[in-house]
Amino acid sequence: MTKILKDRGFVLKKKKFRETSKLITIFAENAGKINLVAKGVRTPKSKTSAVLEPLNLIEFVYYDKPTRDLQYISSAEFIDDFSNIKSDYEKIKIAYAVIELTNYFSHEGQVNNELFDLVYNTLVSLDKNQRPNFNLFIDFIIKLCEISGYPAYTGECPSCHKPIDLMKDDFQFTRNYGVICLNCKNYSNSLINLDSETKKMLALFLSGQVSDEEYSEKFKHLYLPLLEFLQYHVEEIKRLKSLELF
Ligand SMILES: [Zn+2]
Repeated sequence: MTKILKDRGFVLKKKKFRETSKLITIFAENAGKINLVAKGVRTPKSKTSAVLEPLNLIEFVYYDKPTRDLQYISSAEFIDDFSNIKSDYEKIKIAYAVIELTNYFSHEGQVNNELFDLVYNTLVSLDKNQRPNFNLFIDFIIKLCEISGYPAYTGECPSCHKPIDLMKDDFQFTRNYGVICLNCKNYSNSLINLDSETKKMLALFLSGQVSDEEYSEKFKHLYLPLLEFLQYHVEEIKRLKSLELF
């Protein structure tokens, strides 16, 4: 039996499908990641085509027929097209990196409310200029690590379980463990060297105490060691295309 379902979600990817259609990948609130065929949207008359572009948050209706491999979109509308993001090059790069990472960390048929809320809050704040761009991106990666089961900091050393107080600067950052204690650092071959100022800033981000007023352009590259940590655990994200734009 065919069901008609309504959902909302972020468009992650699009690709050409048959003569005039597109195959759209959406990270949806209720369906998880889902691939849907949008029929006839490559004809000039199609009004839905612009709605089904990557990044957009959309509301859509689709036919769900269990006996069919691919399901079809019946209609789609904008909830938010993030027009401010699209008019700012730095915001575009960050938003596409968020969308590409979301594609790697969402799975077909798996609801992930935590990830959905994280993507939603990050993109809305980026669009509305609520926080400095890179602060949003750095916090996005830190939370993505947590949600995916690879927290970069848990309060203790993951190797010897000694408590670590980030504000006391008694830690090192590593590719495999994230934050480790100064004793275990001597046995680690995956240290990421950070100068003391950068380490202090990382400590503020990891403990959720960073204040956007203290923001300085020179710390925007803090997303790099965090991404290296995530890449160590999730090999596939080494091929992130959006990051080549940075
Ligand atoms: Zn330790």
